[in-house]
Amino acid sequence: MYDTDAIRRDHPIADVAVASGLQLRPTGGRLVAVCPFHGDTRPSLIVYPRTRSYYCFGCGAGGDVLDFVSRLHNTSFKEAAALLQGLRLSMPVKTARPQVSEAIARVDPAMAAPIVEEAVAFYAAALWSQPRVLSYLAARGVGRTTARRHRLGFGVRGLADDLRRQGLDPEVAEQLGLLREGRERFVGRVVIPDLVGGRPTWFTGRRLDDREPRYLNLRLPKPILGLGSATGEAVVVTEGPFDWLTTAGWGFRAVALLGTQLRASTVAVLERFEEVYLALDADDAGREATEELRQRLGDRAIPVQLPAGVADLNGLGCQPDGRQGFTRCLLEASRVARASQRTAA
Ligand SMILES: [Zn+2]
Repeated sequence: MYDTDAIRRDHPIADVAVASGLQLRPTGGRLVAVCPFHGDTRPSLIVYPRTRSYYCFGCGAGGDVLDFVSRLHNTSFKEAAALLQGLRLSMPVKTARPQVSEAIARVDPAMAAPIVEEAVAFYAAALWSQPRVLSYLAARGVGRTTARRHRLGFGVRGLADDLRRQGLDPEVAEQLGLLREGRERFVGRVVIPDLVGGRPTWFTGRRLDDREPRYLNLRLPKPILGLGSATGEAVVVTEGPFDWLTTAGWGFRAVALLGTQLRASTVAVLERFEEVYLALDADDAGREATEELRQRLGDRAIPVQLPAGVADLNGLGCQPDGRQGFTRCLLEASRVARASQRTAA
């Protein structure tokens, strides 16, 4: 085991970034650099020495020094820790990052971006001629305005031909997990993209029924969904894509962790916000993740108790007065958090 707090302290992220070949430029109290993780032309990556983290506004990459090294060298966090401690400096670069389910494709971001964009555009155009899918979304509390704003789509056949017509490489689409031996993998799924500046950088596809796997992801690093448009000082942290759609549809700044497995980058990224409302599912996994985030984030974390009998935010979103109910939950959570901070002080 490694003492990750000690590693973060002993290896300042700015020093490691410079040692890794990045040119940092101080601007307005921050350090900016050209991002090594996407086809960056003007500096989009910000290094935050105070919170020992970084974040790229171009591609959404972000995290602590361990995340930075593991992303740069395509290693696990353990190996990144070893690299930083100088134990295995000659370590060979791996060909793939180990992942729970699917391997992450090693695709040139400049080649992937137009294909992801085209797939999202193709599937989004198909959504509006699918009454059954629109009914499914409506039943889950996702209206047409939310669907349009977040560029939701539906997987229909024809993407492979469409890509060819656009002069895009089907081989790259295979590596991204859009196609498998020419067969289209997202057919029959609601497509939910992660947008950074309106541009899709990743998406997931959800089946219309509950058979597993309910979600299928593009083979690109899993983002914190919605982070690209979560500006401001407060954010609501949700668990799944539909919890996020519900909350964002109500007009709140929200992100989805896409599960309860906390990644090293999650905490660092959430530290950018002054108030982090934790509205995860009302089950054991959700409660455990809430507790861990509360410990790691300190005073900025504000756990939100959903109304009794509600399993998750999307469940609340399906109720006619869901928004008002959730607003009451947020106000109560904030009141409780302030009261306990006063007690502690
Ligand atoms: Zn980037």
